[in-house]
Parts: sequence; C-alpha cells; structure tokens
Amino acid sequence: MTSPRDPRRVTLPAPRGLPDAGLLGRRPTAAVVGGGIAGLTAATGLAERGVDVTVFEREHHLGGRVGGWRERLPDGTAVTMSRGFHAFFRQYYNLRTLLSRTDPRLDRLIPLTDYPLLDAHGRIDTFAGLPRTPPWNAAAFAWRSPTFTRKDLLRLSGRNALPLATVSVPETYHLLDRVDASSFLETINFPEAAKHLAFEVFSRSFFADPRELSAAELATMFHLYFLGSSEGLVFDVPTEPFPQALWDPLASYLSSRRVDIRTGTPVTGIGRTRDGFAIESGGRTKNFDGVVLACDVPGLRKIVDASPDLGTEAWRASIDGLRTAPPFLVRRLWLDRPVEPYRSSFLGTGSIPPLDNISLLDRYEGEARSWATRTGGAVVELHAYAAATKDSSGLEKALEKRLHEIYPETRDARVVGDLTLWREDCPLFGVGDFARRPTVETPETALALAGDGIRIDLPVALMERAAATGWAAANSLLGHWGLAGHPIRSVPNHGRIGLLNRLARSRYPK
Ligand SMILES: Cc1cc2nc3c(=O)[nH]c(=O)nc-3n(C[C@H](O)[C@H](O)[C@H](O)COP(=O)(O)OP(=O)(O)OC[C@H]3O[C@@H](n4cnc5c(N)ncnc54)[C@H](O)[C@@H]3O)c2cc1C
Repeated sequence: MTSPRDPRRVTLPAPRGLPDAGLLGRRPTAAVVGGGIAGLTAATGLAERGVDVTVFEREHHLGGRVGGWRERLPDGTAVTMSRGFHAFFRQYYNLRTLLSRTDPRLDRLIPLTDYPLLDAHGRIDTFAGLPRTPPWNAAAFAWRSPTFTRKDLLRLSGRNALPLATVSVPETYHLLDRVDASSFLETINFPEAAKHLAFEVFSRSFFADPRELSAAELATMFHLYFLGSSEGLVFDVPTEPFPQALWDPLASYLSSRRVDIRTGTPVTGIGRTRDGFAIESGGRTKNFDGVVLACDVPGLRKIVDASPDLGTEAWRASIDGLRTAPPFLVRRLWLDRPVEPYRSSFLGTGSIPPLDNISLLDRYEGEARSWATRTGGAVVELHAYAAATKDSSGLEKALEKRLHEIYPETRDARVVGDLTLWREDCPLFGVGDFARRPTVETPETALALAGDGIRIDLPVALMERAAATGWAAANSLLGHWGLAGHPIRSVPNHGRIGLLNRLARSRYPK
C-alpha cells in the first residue's frame, strides 16, 4: 500500500450533520440506480450514515465499466471477462477511499513499475523512474525522451502552454472548452512525434479523437496525472479480476450495512410522489425518499426520457445533450505460448492505428497467471479506442496484425480462446460541452446525479470522477436529511507554481 504523498492535495471537509439516520426517528430510504463506481460510492456514503439503500443495476454484475463476468473458453475453462486493463492512479484519492473500505492497505492493488509508450518509429518513452514532483517530472520526461529534441523544446510556446501549468476547475473550462485538443496542441508548437505519445495517448484514453475532445478536458487530465500532482505517474492494477478484487468484497460490505443490491434489475422510469420518488423496474414501483442516478450516459438519457415528471426543461435538455464517444474494442486472446519475458505488462502506443495499448494479463492478474502457468501460454489484451470504423471484425484483424508486428513471437501462436467487446458507452467531453453538462445537484431536492460524465468542479477524471461524484451525490442527499457527509479529495485545484498562476491571472482575468 502506498499512502498519498502529495502534501498539497486538497480535502473538502465532510459536511456536518447527525452521524446516523437512526437519530432521525425514521430512516430515509434511497434508491441508487447504477452499480458502477459512481453508484457503489454513493451507496457506500449513504449506507454508512444509516440510510436504507437499494441499488438497482441493469446488468447481472456490479462494477459497471469496471465490472467482470464469467465466460468459457472453447476447452471449457471458466474465465472472468471484463473491459480489461484499467490504471488505478495514486492520485485517485476518492476511488481509493472507496476501495479501502474492504481493503484498508489496498493490498489487492499492485504497482506496474513501467509504462512504456511506443510510437510508429519504434521510439519508446517511459514514465518509470521519473521524479514525482512537478515541474521536475515534466522536465525529466522531456529531457530523456527520444521524441523531444532540444530544438523542439526551444520551439515550444511557453505563452500558449501556460494554461497547462495553471489548471483550475472551472476556470480552465471557461478558457479552453471552446477549443479542441488538437488545435490547442498546434498553438503550443508541440512536436508532432511527442504529441502522439504524451498527448494523444491521454486523449484517446478518453475514447475521443483529439479533434473532438475539449482542450480543457485534456489540460485537466494533464494536470491530474502530471503537472498538478506529485503522486507520480506510476499506477496500480488489481491483483485479481475486478469482481474478486473489488466488487465482491464491496458487495459484502454493503450487505452488512443492510444495502439491498438488485442486479439484473434495470430501472425503466422514475415518477414523483408527494414527498419522494417512485422507481419503476420490472413492471413494479417502489417508493423512496431520495434517488441517486448513477447510470452511464445512454442509461441516464433513457431513464430521464421515460420520466416526464422529473426536473426542469433546461435540466432535461442538458441530459439529452450528453453524448457518447465513438465505439471502442477490447480483444482478449489466450495464446498457446508465452510472450517474451522482457515485454512490459502494459504498453501504450501512439500513431500505430488502430491499436492503443497491449497488456499482458498473466503478468499481473492472478486468474490469468494461473491459466498461463498451467498451460504454458499467455493472456494478451488489445484495446482500440475511438474506432473510426463500424467494422469490428476488420478492427480485430488489424489489432492482431499490430500485435504480431510489435511482439513478433506471437505470430505463430495458436489462439486457444478469444473474446471481443465492442461498446459505445463512454461519455464524450466534446468542445463547448462543459457549460451545458449536468451537475451532481439537480433541480429536484433529494435527486442527485453521479458518474464520470457528470460535472464536478474539481480536477478529476474517469474512474476518479465517478468516485468523486458518487461521494458528492451521497453528500447531497445526506445534507438534505441533516446527516453528516463525507470528505472529498483532489489534487490541488490550481497550478503548483505561484509565479505562473499570477501570470495566468493577469493574462486571463476572470
Ligand atoms: C476499455 C476501458 C478502459 C478504461 N481505462 C480506464 C483507466 O485506465 N483509468 C480510468 O480512470 N478509467 C478508465 N476507464 C473509464 C472507467 O471505466 C469509467 O470512468 C468508470 O468506470 C465510470 O464509472 P461510472 O460509475 O460513472 O459508470 P459505469 O461504470 O458505466 O456505471 C453505470 C452503471 O449504470 C448501469 N445502468 C445503466 N442504465 C441503467 C438502468 N436503467 N437501470 C439500472 N442500472 C443502469 C450500467 O449497467 C452500469 O453498471 C476505462 C473504460 C473502458 C471502457
């Protein structure tokens, strides 16, 4: 377990209130719709204050996009399938707080010590061994990077890059949300090769083409992972598939707090009652005092669309306006022979379309390792984000071709089993979307939103935004009932170098 190290991390203190709903006379009831990170965080926050919580989850498993389920290989072996590789960064304070409820020392996460990035010319950048503290991390990365020449460094426009070093939410969005990430990089004179690696890898991790992604989102991401945090860029991964490592223990924890977890139970609509909400699911209706909607974008849009009594017109329009990023493909291969031992557990790629990364599951995940040890094979996973085609089988072939080029030892391997996921349910952080994005608070008292597509004015992203909004949604309902909330944490919500912050303020007054 690594404890947070950044002395400048920010803690928003827990809102004050009664410690337990038992003191209220009647325990409020809350429905949490969606059992991904956001919903499970909200359920935890509410249940820990004694609220009677029911979680409604459409799928038969918890974890949402970080969920896992059982599949069988052609030889009958049972395996856990998921959307695969996820990086659990050390600056994901709110997510780690959730996971520490069942794993106080976070022993079920292990660090990946290296994180190389490969480009089409065979150049490799790595984040391993960099200093943790900005700006030395960025300086050292650029200094030793084969993709930056000294000339490139001198050509960088410090003036235009200033917003990257002075991120503050929401101000950065006011400044950059109307610009796309690709154009923003042009204005900085970022060297083409380095752009593919240092930036495109980040932006594609948001499942978007840099021409579609808000420059503000890119800058916030850069701040969270690199320039705004001294936790470092080394990240952790679970030691076992997601259900075993994360969600089964959390489900037991929640059940011990009387949370009713209903998987395979989609919510189809929400009505208003005299003092609460009526949740419709499977042809039945159940009343609750409060609701957290913690669905993915398509799920949220569908529920709100089917619930005409909810919210104001403007709020409903903001939900309707949420967009999803282009589809992505995850392909997992069980091979009959190992990959060379010196290969990294995870390799990010830039400008090698359609491949975005290769991970070797048997190097870090117990279940895959047992399979590989038993069979002498390897479990390899390939990701392609922001797919530019609808032809998923063509994409599968193209991904495998890239695997064979990059790891030639896999060329003659026999595929013992293979599974592919093709999905389109990640939020798009499009140009100019921020101002319209729905927030955790809604026009309805005791109805809150959570999820990685929901706006919260903190420098958080992806899984960490899901967790941060989950705690915030719980706090919103708890506050309504006079109950104490939970602290929310983030990396500093401003640049780390005072002089640059002052320069930015004078250049971009509010
Ligand atoms: C391939 C891939 C790789 C990724 N890698 C990373 C990474 O390395 N680092 C990182 O930080 N993030 C990563 N992410 C993003 C991360 O997975 C998400 O940010 C996070 O899981 C979002 O959590 P959430 O709770 O907001 O949404 P979700 O996980 O989508 O949860 C929403 C839940 O709502 C449920 N639901 C929807 N409609 C209904 C309904 N009507 N009734 C009941 N339930 C409903 C859904 O089934 C789902 O379980 C990755 C995502 C993918 C797909």
